Amino acid sequence: MIEFNNVSLVYPNGHQGLKDINLKINDGEFVVVVGLSGAGKSTLIRSINRMVTPTSGELLIDGEDILKYKERQLRKLRTEAGMIFQNYNLVRRMSVLRNVLTGRLGYTNTFKSLLGLFSQEDIKLALNNLERVGIKEKSYTRADELSGGQQQRVSIARVLTQQPKVILADEPVASLDPPTSHKVMSDLRKISKEDNLTTLVNLHFIDMAKEYADRIIGLRDGEVVFDGPASEVTEQTFEEIYGRPIREDDMLGGDEE
Ligand code: ADP
Repeated sequence: MIEFNNVSLVYPNGHQGLKDINLKINDGEFVVVVGLSGAGKSTLIRSINRMVTPTSGELLIDGEDILKYKERQLRKLRTEAGMIFQNYNLVRRMSVLRNVLTGRLGYTNTFKSLLGLFSQEDIKLALNNLERVGIKEKSYTRADELSGGQQQRVSIARVLTQQPKVILADEPVASLDPPTSHKVMSDLRKISKEDNLTTLVNLHFIDMAKEYADRIIGLRDGEVVFDGPASEVTEQTFEEIYGRPIREDDMLGGDEE
């Protein structure tokens, strides 16, 4: 379980990114965080693997305050809380398989990883995860030869190969067209449910959030202004989160492939 107790974050320039956040996220929950650009969505999910560090409060994962973590514990935390990014963060010139294997680096010693030596077991795991996201046949293709949707699926396979407890996805579909976005979101949800992985996803589009989330957290100016099941999101909730009535461009639309 992830628990935010009175968590605030003030950036060095004095900007308050998070204001007194109190949340409990249960194991296996698929949570979508929504809000305007600048609302604090990234700051919230990046706090969970300490890519940013809140300046007050407690952030507990399975009862341990990760805000107290130092180097070795932080490395373990970042293995347990895997990230997916908008721009995929793949090594463009490396094969798909090798990119996915980098998910094992948290477990391999530096010498072996420098030589690119991975065990048969790691390779089997990586290939299996590529199969789960439907692109095993691309294993030996260079990452930059794939489409955006395929690259994001490689990054999902990489995060799975890391064998995390938590997946943090920061605008994972913001660079993809609507049908591909739906495909990536449904893969992510399916995998998260199959493996009982707690997943937090930042999304820009409210209709997508409603379609895939168990629970929606709405942020505005660093504060939680909505927290509830996707089924309870109404037009009024939308106005609370976005500070204005809903518009067509708040919807992604499009159908699943
Ligand atoms: P979102 O993901 O919802 O777009 P962010 O979490 O990226 O929002 O940012 C929240 C607020 O914090 C924004 O106003 C942003 O400009 C500010 N911010 C983000 N990173 C920094 C930083 N390193 N220094 C100062 N302000 C920052």
